[in-house]
Amino acid sequence: MRYMDVHCHLDQYKDNELIRILNTENNDMRITGAAINANSAKKLLQIISAYPRILVCLGIHPEYPEYYDEFEEVKKMIINNKEKIKGIGEIGLPYYYLRQLNKNSADIVKAAGKELLIKFLDLAEDTGLPVVLHAIEETAECALEELKKRDISKVLFHWFEGELNLMEEIIKKEYYISVTPDIIHNRKYADFVSCIPLNNLVVESDGPWKYENVTGVPRMVIDVVGYLSCQRKIPESELSEIIYENSCKLYNIVY
Ligand SMILES: [Zn+2]
Repeated sequence: MRYMDVHCHLDQYKDNELIRILNTENNDMRITGAAINANSAKKLLQIISAYPRILVCLGIHPEYPEYYDEFEEVKKMIINNKEKIKGIGEIGLPYYYLRQLNKNSADIVKAAGKELLIKFLDLAEDTGLPVVLHAIEETAECALEELKKRDISKVLFHWFEGELNLMEEIIKKEYYISVTPDIIHNRKYADFVSCIPLNNLVVESDGPWKYENVTGVPRMVIDVVGYLSCQRKIPESELSEIIYENSCKLYNIVY
């Protein structure tokens, strides 16, 4: 069975864990690394030069405003490596970070986050690269508004959880939604993802994010597919192939 982890912060693992994942873990599995800043982007570009099964997306994670001013540097890396990378990500809008701020500071970061998202979406339109979005809950509405103004056909709403009407819009536009290992422990999330049509469905680990205190790793996407196979009553071999093909379509890979 073929698998792809469509979203993982590979460069964020400790060195020994990264080496273990790259060299021993499910050697045939494809893993897509997503950058959080310029340094992370550099590290990911080094990884793909040595490991052909690894794919990367470059961007600035919206929950880290301290890196927003690295845009020009990351943009240059995206343009210079346009043929080598698979997309622009992780980009999007701040959500969790805003919770710790008072209203004034939150408004400032929110505006800066939106401005950065717009710059990255313009870059995606210019380069024709897919985008990987962090657009949690109601921030997806703003992301969808900005997408409407542009010609960007390949979009992943990573770990999307939010209102069903927003999910419907994501589906209508033929964008993708990735499901994480949270499905195994979180009943509410499992019910939510049961509404994602097969054509829009992909899987991710978002590693090294922790699930019930266990560090997320790419091979967990196999368990996610297993769970979805039981939930949807579709044989695992059939479902894994559909999800793998969706992942390839998302990142413009021949399968
Ligand atoms: Zn992420």
